[in-house]
Amino acid sequence: MSSKPDASRPRATDTKKVHIADTQMTRQNWYKHVNWLNVTFIIGIPLAGCIQAFWVPLQLKTAIWAVIYYFFTGLGITAGYHRLWAHCSYSATLPLRIWLALVGGGAVEGSIRWWARDHRAHHRYTDTDKDPYSVRKGLLYSHLGWMVMKQNPKRIGRTDITDLNEDPVVVWQHRNYIKVVLGMGLGVPMLVSGLGWGDWYGGFVYAGILRIFFVQQATFCVNSLAHWLGDQPFDDRNSPRDHIITALVTLGEGYHNFHHEFPSDYRNAIEWHQYDPTKWTIWTCKQLGLAYDLKQFRSNEIEKGRVQQLQKKIDQKRAKLDWGTPLDQLPVMEWDDYVEQTKNGRGLISIAGVVHDVTDFIKDHPGGKAMIKSGLGKDATAMFNGGVYYHSNGAHNLLSTMRVGVIRGGGEVEIWKRAQKENSEYVRDETGQRIIRAGQQVTKMPEPISTADAA
Ligand SMILES: [Zn+2]
Ligand SMILES: [Zn+2]
Repeated sequence: MSSKPDASRPRATDTKKVHIADTQMTRQNWYKHVNWLNVTFIIGIPLAGCIQAFWVPLQLKTAIWAVIYYFFTGLGITAGYHRLWAHCSYSATLPLRIWLALVGGGAVEGSIRWWARDHRAHHRYTDTDKDPYSVRKGLLYSHLGWMVMKQNPKRIGRTDITDLNEDPVVVWQHRNYIKVVLGMGLGVPMLVSGLGWGDWYGGFVYAGILRIFFVQQATFCVNSLAHWLGDQPFDDRNSPRDHIITALVTLGEGYHNFHHEFPSDYRNAIEWHQYDPTKWTIWTCKQLGLAYDLKQFRSNEIEKGRVQQLQKKIDQKRAKLDWGTPLDQLPVMEWDDYVEQTKNGRGLISIAGVVHDVTDFIKDHPGGKAMIKSGLGKDATAMFNGGVYYHSNGAHNLLSTMRVGVIRGGGEVEIWKRAQKENSEYVRDETGQRIIRAGQQVTKMPEPISTADAA
C-alpha cells in the first residue's frame, strides 16, 4: 500500500543536504564543526609527546637519529608527495617510489592520493573558495585550521587524479595507510634507536612523536607562510610568495611564487645559492639512476614572467609621477596671445610649440634668471635644445610639468603633427598612460647629426 509522502515533513535526504561546515558555528554545535580525528593526530598526540619529554631523557644518538629521520620523512613529503605525485615534475623508479611512499607516510599527513588531490585543487583554484587551504581565510586557517575544522568535501575544487589511481604504489599506500603510519611514523624510529642503542622510549618520543610534530608544522608552512611572507617576483595577482625563511623551514619549498608559476618544474629555487635540499635530493637520485625525466622550464620563459612583473611594478611607479598635462588635453593658444601675455608679465616660454609657465621657476633656473628671461615670449626651441644650452633629460622632464598650452599651428613647429606622432609612436602602459622614455619628450629636438664624411 502506498501513501503520499507528507510534504510538511522534511525528508531524510533534505537534512543531509546541508553539510555541517556550511552552517553557522554556535555554542551548541561547535564540537560538530571540529574534525576530532585530525585534532588527535596533529594536536593531541604532539601534546602528549611534549608532556612525556619531561621525564624521558634525550640521548645524543637519539637526537641525531630524530634529525636524520626528520629529513627522510620531510623529503618524503616534498620530493615524494609534492614534486613527484602532485606535480609529476620528474619520474621515479619503483624502488624510489616505494621509499618515498613509506617515509612520506611516516610524516603522518594523510595518504599520497588524498594529499595530492587537495594539492592539485590548491594550485588550480588558488585563493578561491575551492582552494582547500586558501590563505584568504586567514593564516591560521591555511596552516592547520583547514584540517582541524570540518570541510565540506564538495566545496573543494575537482581535480583529475587518474594518473595516481594507476600507480600501484599510491594505491597500495592509500589502502594500507594506517599500517604505514604506525610502522613508519612510530615503529621504525623506535626500532632503530631501540635495537641500535637501547633507547626504545626515547626513540618513540623524540624520533617518533615529536619528530612527526615538527615535520607536520614545517610542511604546513608551505600552505601558510609561503602564501603570506616574502616577494612576488613572477606574478602578484595571487598570494604565493618567495622567502628564504620559508625555504629553510620547508626543505626548500619556500620559493613558492616561482612554484605556483612553474609547478611542473622539479626545482623551487632556480639560483644555485638558494636553499632547496629537495631539488638537490631529486638531482642526486637522478645521478644514482633512481629518478629520470626531471622537468625544467626554459630560463627564457622564466625571465619573461620576471620581466612582466617588473614592468607592472614600473608602471605602478610611473603612474604615481607627474608627467605634465597630456598634450591633447592642453588648451590651444594663438601666437599673438602668447606674446601678449608675456608682455603683461606672465613668465611664458614656448618650446617646440608647447607653452610653459615658468613664472615661479625663473628664480630657480640653474642657468640664471637672465638666460631664461631672454626666452620669454619667443620660440625658445633652439635655445633650449643646444642653441644656448643643451638641456639635460631631467630638464625636459621638469619642463613638461609646467606645460599650460599649445600654440595654434605650432608657431615654427607643427605641434599637432608632433601630437599625432606621440599618439602613434609612443607606447602606453597597462593603465593607458603614455610611456615617456628618456630623450623622447616632446620638447626634445633630435641631436644634430655629426657627418663623418664631412671631415
Ligand atoms: Zn601554494
Ligand atoms: Zn605545489
